[in-house]
Amino acid sequence: MKKLLYIHGYNGSPEGNSYRLFRKYMPQDEWQVIGMDYTQDDCAVALQEIRETIEREGINLVVGSSLGGFLTLLTTGIERIVINPCYLPSVELPKLGPLNDLPVPSRQMTATYAAFEPLLKTFSDEERNLITGYFANDDELLGDRYQNVFVEDVHGFCTIPGGHHVCEEAVKIICHPFTPEYQYMKRAHQASFKNKESVLRSKVCGCFSCLETFPASEAYFVKETDGQETAWCPYCDTDAVLGNASGYPITQEFLKAMQDEWF
Ligand SMILES: [Zn+2]
Repeated sequence: MKKLLYIHGYNGSPEGNSYRLFRKYMPQDEWQVIGMDYTQDDCAVALQEIRETIEREGINLVVGSSLGGFLTLLTTGIERIVINPCYLPSVELPKLGPLNDLPVPSRQMTATYAAFEPLLKTFSDEERNLITGYFANDDELLGDRYQNVFVEDVHGFCTIPGGHHVCEEAVKIICHPFTPEYQYMKRAHQASFKNKESVLRSKVCGCFSCLETFPASEAYFVKETDGQETAWCPYCDTDAVLGNASGYPITQEFLKAMQDEWF
């Protein structure tokens, strides 16, 4: 069983709504979802507590939202997902208060977070590749003001529907890459590259770009840099061809599902 550690936002709870949604949408026979609380008043202590939990529980993936997203970004060396990360707590925390139904964070607390902000500019390429970012398209708290800096410091991000608090539809999208259906289609996608041998052994081929089916003799092949050859579709000139010898079903239903996923 793999384990996902969920890090909540400012004044959140370890087993709140987002935690429950991740439990609902991560494949339950493969993933255990764990929520944790942390010493919110001190960033260094919070980071230490997260590290200890990762070690103790054998965590595979850390997911954090808002202030938990900031902490998650700084939890280096492990695969992680950040959702609407509070990128600059020194700017955002002082804005919180009764208007958001939240207690005002102390200046002392904010200073402990500010001390860690420069580290976001120091990630190696290897580190950046461990991070997936999601930003809501209607974040009433942070707007889109940290999207550009995220692109500079980390890399591109995915957009999810909803506001600052993660909605059900957003969690569904975030969990989708972990589902067996997606994993199966990802393997099928990989099988469409350097596939000359399997295509030539096939009776029927299908293209998941234009959805045509055709005999292997109609496909043509293009050499990759390593000399292996990939089948291209004669109808739409795309390298999205699978033959039945690959083991994947060459049906309209499957080709359509692949098209929805990759095009
Ligand atoms: Zn095609």
